[in-house]
Amino acid sequence: MFKKMLATGALALFTLTSTVFAVGAADVTPTANTAAQAIVASATVNSEEAAALQFMREEEKLAHDVYMTLSDAGGLRVFDNIAASEQKHTEAVAALLDRYEIADPAAGKALGEFTDVKLRALYDQLVAQGSKSVADALKAGAAIEEIDIRDLQERLAGTDNAAIQRVYNNLLAGSGNHLRAFVSNLKSRTGETYAPQYLSQAAYDAIITASGSQGGGNGRWGSRRGGRRP
Ligand code: MN
Ligand code: MN
Repeated sequence: MFKKMLATGALALFTLTSTVFAVGAADVTPTANTAAQAIVASATVNSEEAAALQFMREEEKLAHDVYMTLSDAGGLRVFDNIAASEQKHTEAVAALLDRYEIADPAAGKALGEFTDVKLRALYDQLVAQGSKSVADALKAGAAIEEIDIRDLQERLAGTDNAAIQRVYNNLLAGSGNHLRAFVSNLKSRTGETYAPQYLSQAAYDAIITASGSQGGGNGRWGSRRGGRRP
């Protein structure tokens, strides 16, 4: 039923877009054209965008579930704070699933349970690794944030839907904050310097230095300094 709905949506999008182009070619006023495009952007998602939302819904849940579990294991407060943020992230994606009437893969799933088998395996792996020591817990947290940033950037590039872009950008800003928090906690508690595992060194450095720049507010990752933490 879900797939059928998507297929219909994709067809409707194609038809509407074609109409817009056809009308545009006939020299209709720009206002009508823009309005039609706005409807396309807000009312439809294609199957790729829908699958991406379903995946991100569970990846944000993965972050939440791992942090909750590691918090119980090691009593580190940073995990409690960030888990609360991840709960908001997964709920923000759930709201988009609801808005576009896409099935929610996390519905009815308990802590550590996922529809996506790879995320389920990643949960087990990260909890096992992170439970060994405080340093391992913080490294597991940093790894999740790297994965999250990589996956969000990839899916952000794959959508032109403004509502989805807004949510992904908020989640990205949150991930930058979280990555910096885990890396700085690792340094202050254990003296270890975190080495990126999933992002390029240059991309990682850009995120880390964004927090260290005096004055803040500059660059992609610094704009949230002093503002609310998503
Ligand atoms: Mn998140
Ligand atoms: Mn995060």
